[in-house]
Amino acid sequence: MKTYRRLLKFAKPYGKFVIPFFVCTLIASFFSVFQFALIIPLLNFLFDHHTVESLQKYATAPSFSFSAGYFKELFYYQVHHLKMMNPVYALYFIAALIVMAVLLTNIFRYLAQRSMVNARTMLVKKIREAIFEKINRLHLGYFTKEKKGDLLSRMNADVFEIEAVAGNSLEILFKEPYLMIAYFIGLFVISAKLTFFTLLIIPVSAIGIAMVTKKLRKEASDMQSSIGKLLTIIDETLMGMRIIRSFNATDFILKRFSRENDYYRNASLQGFKKRELAPIFSEVSGVIVVACILIYGGSMILSNKAAGTGLQASEFIAFIAIFSQVIRPAKAMVVALANIQRGEASGQRILEVLDTKIEVEDHPGAKALGAFNSSIQFKNVCFSYSDKPVLKDISFEIEKGKTVALVGPSGVGKSTIADLLPRFYDVTSGSICIDGKDIRSYTMESIRSQMSFVTQDIILFNDSVFNNIALGKPDASMDEVIRAARIANAHDFIMDTEEGYQTNIGDRGIRLSGGQRQRLSIARAVFKNPAILILDEATSSLDTESEKSVQDALNNLMQGRTTLVIAHRLSTIKEADEILILQDGKIAERGNHFDLIEAEESIYKRLTLMQKIA
Ligand code: ADP
Repeated sequence: MKTYRRLLKFAKPYGKFVIPFFVCTLIASFFSVFQFALIIPLLNFLFDHHTVESLQKYATAPSFSFSAGYFKELFYYQVHHLKMMNPVYALYFIAALIVMAVLLTNIFRYLAQRSMVNARTMLVKKIREAIFEKINRLHLGYFTKEKKGDLLSRMNADVFEIEAVAGNSLEILFKEPYLMIAYFIGLFVISAKLTFFTLLIIPVSAIGIAMVTKKLRKEASDMQSSIGKLLTIIDETLMGMRIIRSFNATDFILKRFSRENDYYRNASLQGFKKRELAPIFSEVSGVIVVACILIYGGSMILSNKAAGTGLQASEFIAFIAIFSQVIRPAKAMVVALANIQRGEASGQRILEVLDTKIEVEDHPGAKALGAFNSSIQFKNVCFSYSDKPVLKDISFEIEKGKTVALVGPSGVGKSTIADLLPRFYDVTSGSICIDGKDIRSYTMESIRSQMSFVTQDIILFNDSVFNNIALGKPDASMDEVIRAARIANAHDFIMDTEEGYQTNIGDRGIRLSGGQRQRLSIARAVFKNPAILILDEATSSLDTESEKSVQDALNNLMQGRTTLVIAHRLSTIKEADEILILQDGKIAERGNHFDLIEAEESIYKRLTLMQKIA
């Protein structure tokens, strides 16, 4: 329940819906009991043989007192009054009252429902927003590949589950107890003895039901995490369709999917089996309870008939009618409790995301970085991903306006160095300084606003060319965007598209060639006009033809900026002011192209030779 208490906080402020909900439910409960209580006068009226007695009893109106008894007497007085005029009038009167009570019950029930729906949609909206906001703030290290499907599942399946639970089960738990209390008051008024008897036998049936529902939680949790894995497989398959087909790996993927799908089916089967048991238990035990009442109450009437006092047949029938109504909310509550157990697993999965600690945050008192003035320094930087050391004692400096290139085998930690600069991760030890001050003393936003990233994985959004270039600044002027596109050699091909800058580029830019996509991302970097530029193998996935146009665009972009560049092709970094050769997480060699090439035995020299041969 702690999980729900926390999740329900998202529906705050409660006042807006709680008060109307409770008021409406209370009124609905009252009329609901009233409509069944009307059975008693109806039956009495139909089967009343003591007309002379009644005549005397109801000859005068009862004297006023604020009690149920007065209203009951007043009602009987009215019925008899009408009956004296014309018996059919009395029948009309009772029938009209029943219709009115049913109508009012339903109107107020509907109004209560409306305020609940209001709260429920608000709750789900806010939970979704909270998760989305959280994942937008979490440090990048959180988003491993496995996490992606899992997160999607948490945002979808788990939130839906909570929606269902909050929408139905919680509503039932809040509403039905009122109805039950109202019904029990009705029952109590009719016959206290019979009511005590029913109260004694009900708990027996409740125990069995509680035992079934308890086990539901584990299956629910298994199901949701399995859906996460399925989503990961689907996502990977959609992204890697080319590779899968070309490696004839379709069967392999199908098997993998089928295995996980089987697991999901089994988990849901187990869950359903147990969930479906709950209503069966409650149904059967409900009928047993009714049967017991029939026997006990029936024998009360039989014996009372002889005595001529106590429970009347009409009252007993009304009692059974009301009691049958008690069973419905009781049953609904049992099912709701089962669903709430299932929902709790989802709730916990949602809270896990919301509770994840953000590892990279602004430090208290962090200041905004003004204009970038002199240099970026890496000082004895070490870095590990959890406990896997990647960088060891890295020190270098990039002076303003200069270019430093990182070269080294794949996996050596080049991208990691690039990721440390905008604080996607924080260093494990050592420090990174901008203008002599540790970057952790600046706000992340101000550091990032000075930087642009151009990477090998080109990230474009399913939106217009304009919005992709002016990312995050929808109020940018067309002139600025066009200027950026021209510098990035992208203007011409953009103008060749049907709607120019308003063309929608499709999902992840699927309608553009690799080179065009890269030039768009360069235009985006130009548009931001950053002082610092990070190029992470920006041309390495392109063919020679597009590489040239992209390289030209990059050269334009680098004009007058401070650049950290990671390159596979050494030809692209010949001009760099310093080249760092990384090996085993350390800087093995450093110097400019000419220094390194002239050294006797340098790795760089070997690499250039290799690339020239290739
Ligand atoms: P490079 O850019 O030189 O190819 P990276 O900086 O991408 O190398 O990676 C350096 C090492 O760190 C690699 O061994 C890689 O497997 C590991 N690595 C990269 N990202 C993560 C991560 N998010 N979690 C754990 N290990 C990672």
